[in-house]
Amino acid sequence: MSYTVAIVGRPNVGKSTFFNRLLEERKAIVDDVSGVTRDRQYGVTEWNGRSFNVIDTGGFVHGSEDVFEIEICKQVKTAIDEADVIIFMTDAATGITDLDDSLANILRRATKPVLVAVNKVDNNNRYLEATEFYILGFEQVFFISSMSGSGTGELLDAVTALM
Ligand code: GDP
Ligand code: MG
Repeated sequence: MSYTVAIVGRPNVGKSTFFNRLLEERKAIVDDVSGVTRDRQYGVTEWNGRSFNVIDTGGFVHGSEDVFEIEICKQVKTAIDEADVIIFMTDAATGITDLDDSLANILRRATKPVLVAVNKVDNNNRYLEATEFYILGFEQVFFISSMSGSGTGELLDAVTALM
C-alpha cells in the first residue's frame, strides 16, 4: 500500500522548499519521473514511523497569464486524482490572491482531505495576518515556515493522522 500526499498551490508560495525539507530531513529519495513535461517531483519520506509518497507540483509553468492559470488548475486536478491527501500551500506574505481563490474552488469540491498550509509564517506578526486564510473555508489550517521548519511537524502529524 502506498499513501500519497500532493503539495499544490500557485507558484512561489514555497512548495518546493517544503518538499526539499521533507526529503532532506527524512533522508528520502527523489525519483525522476520520465515524461515529456516533467511538471512534478516525486519523493518518499516518513513521519511518525509511517512512510508515504510526496508529490511536488508546478515545477514548470510558463505562458501567458491565462495559460498559466489553466495549467495550474490542471495540475491541481491531476494531484486530486493521484493523491490520498492534498496540502494546499499558500503564502502569508502575499495573503489570499485570485489564483488562491480559484484553486480553493477546485479543492473544495475534491472528495479527498485538504490541509491548508499557510507558509512563510516566519514571525508572530505574520501569524496574526495569516489567520485570514480561514476564510477559504477549509477545516484544517496550519501556519508554517518551510524555511525554518516551524509548524511543519504539526502539519505532518495531521497528514499521518489521516493515513
Ligand atoms: P514554489 O514555486 O511554490 O515551489 O516555491 P519555492 O519553494 O520555489 O519558494 C519560492 C520562494 O519563497 C523562494 O525564494 C523561497 O526561498 C521562499 N520561501 C519558501 N519558504 C519560505 C518561508 O517559510 N519563509 C520565507 N520568508 N520565504 C520562503
Ligand atoms: Mg516549485
